[in-house]
Order: sequence, then C-alpha cells, then structure tokens
Amino acid sequence: MQHWSTIADNISQATGKSFSVDNSQSIGGGCINEAFRISGNGQDYFVKLHSSAYLDMFEAEAAGLQELASAQAIKVPLPVCTGSNSSKAWVVMEYISLGGRGNMALFGQQLAAMHRKTSPSFGWHTDNTIGSTPQINTPNIDWINFWREHRLGYQLELAARNGCSGSLQRKGERLMESFDMLFTNYQPEASLLHGDLWSGNYSSDAQGSPVIFDPAIYYGDREADLAMTELFGGFGSSFYDAYHDSWPIDPGYKVRKTFYNIYHILNHFNLFGGGYASQAENMIGSVLSESK
Ligand code: ADP
Repeated sequence: MQHWSTIADNISQATGKSFSVDNSQSIGGGCINEAFRISGNGQDYFVKLHSSAYLDMFEAEAAGLQELASAQAIKVPLPVCTGSNSSKAWVVMEYISLGGRGNMALFGQQLAAMHRKTSPSFGWHTDNTIGSTPQINTPNIDWINFWREHRLGYQLELAARNGCSGSLQRKGERLMESFDMLFTNYQPEASLLHGDLWSGNYSSDAQGSPVIFDPAIYYGDREADLAMTELFGGFGSSFYDAYHDSWPIDPGYKVRKTFYNIYHILNHFNLFGGGYASQAENMIGSVLSESK
C-alpha cells in the first residue's frame, strides 16, 4: 500500500529509530477503521487507517490511550504517532498479541483502580469520538448538566436529524427534564473512564494480563463505564465481584445502568440505524417508569 513508506517515516521520526515496513497484515474485528499489523526492523506496530478527515479522531484516540496509561492501572497499547496525507489519516500504537479473556478478577480490580483517578470536573480537555460520532467533553463541574447537554441531549438531537422523531423524542424530552431524580441521593465523582467499554474493546495479552483499547475517554461517573460492560453481554461474575470488593457500587446503579446505556443505544442508532431506535425508546420508557 502506498501509505506505508510515509507511515514508516512518521514512526522513525517519533521513535528516533529507523523503521521500514517489510510486512503488513490486515486485522479484522474493528467497527470503524481499517486495522493492520505492520512489521519491519524487528518491530511490530498496530495501525488504524481512515480517510484523512479523521486525523482529529486519531489524535484524540492517541491522547486518550496516553491518559489511560497515566493511571497505571490497566495495560493499554501505548501510542506512537498520528499523521495524515492527502487520502489517509492514521494512528500507530504498540502491537499487542491479543487473545482470550485472561484474568477477569484482576481486570475488575484494575478497572476500580483506574476509576480512582479523578478530576475536579467532568469531561476532558479534548473532544473525541464514540464510534465515529463526535463526543463533546467540554468540562463542567455539574455532572447532571454535563450529561444532559453533551451526552443524552446530544444524541437525541442527532437522532432527530437522522429522522427519528415522534414518541422517542417526546419520551426523550421527558427524561431530559426529570432524570436528575436519579441522583437525589447519589453524587458521582469524576473518574477516568474508558468510555466505550464493551467486550469488543477488552482482551488479554500473551501473559493473560487484561488489556483495554479503542477508548472514548472522559472523566465521569464510573457507573457509566460499568453499565457499558453489561450492554452487549456482561464480563462475568468474577469481574463484577472483584470490582465491587475493590470499590462497592451504590444500589441506585440498577436504574442508572439502563439510563446510562441509552446514550450508547442512541449512538448505535445514529451510526447504524435500524432497530436501535425502538430499543432506545423502550429503555427511556423503562427509566421513566422507574424514576417516578
Ligand atoms: P475500530 O476503531 O475500528 O473499532 P479497534 O481499535 O477496535 O478498531 O481494533 C480492531 C481490532 O484490532 C480489535 O478488535 C483488536 O482485536 C485488535 N487490536 C486493537 N488494538 C490492538 C493493538 N494495539 N495490538 C494488536 N491488536 C489490536
């Protein structure tokens, strides 16, 4: 592929060590980008490619991986460089030989440790993406306002622009007005979140150590990360037991779990369309009826 020599130069500059690509291998499993393992000079790197307009997305991903790494809690691929030419943008990171679920109890402990890294405000200094949808992170010291404006409200508006009107929007508005009731006896801290922690963004390395990747980080309620782990098949009881032993969860999580996941299901509608709209509407209905 014609981009490899530019990407190799980018890597050489970033690492200060001469690199050229002898072999590239396509890697499946992603939702948004083309992914490759590239090898040369005794080194392996993992590269994601998209069209050149996506450089900002990759820069935010690299910064997000760095922020997760700084918590020193869970292994993440370390970013190497980002760049673009007239047709492609890329992010290059450490290649990790991934496979299997590894030690789920250790992962539960490590996620709780990562959530202990906190910030004075919710959000982050940079916007990023969730899938390929923009995710606005403008810092706010009020979590409810942050979620109303930049999470639930943002996705509802996008859904309206994508043709989803009627009862979903009406129920969505009711939820926007009333969801502060879910926080009557609960004040979340602004924890470092992975932000897109479904099972496809978790694996383990050759030693069985947990690895997380493909983040959409920001500082927010840790329950939002836990909720996402339960959205497309949970992570198993040893993970949850270990997390709860490290840092117990408030009983109100049961309702807030569905509430937080509405964001991701609306985002799935906005990315992929189809039945996600009715799933989101059912979830909104269920939270409305439980938060009366
Ligand atoms: P997308 O942004 O398109 O969703 P992902 O970041 O999820 O792509 O990566 C696609 C797949 O590549 C993942 O499912 C995982 O199996 C693998 N992968 C991700 N990061 C690495 C890495 N640093 N090293 C090796 N394989 C990786």
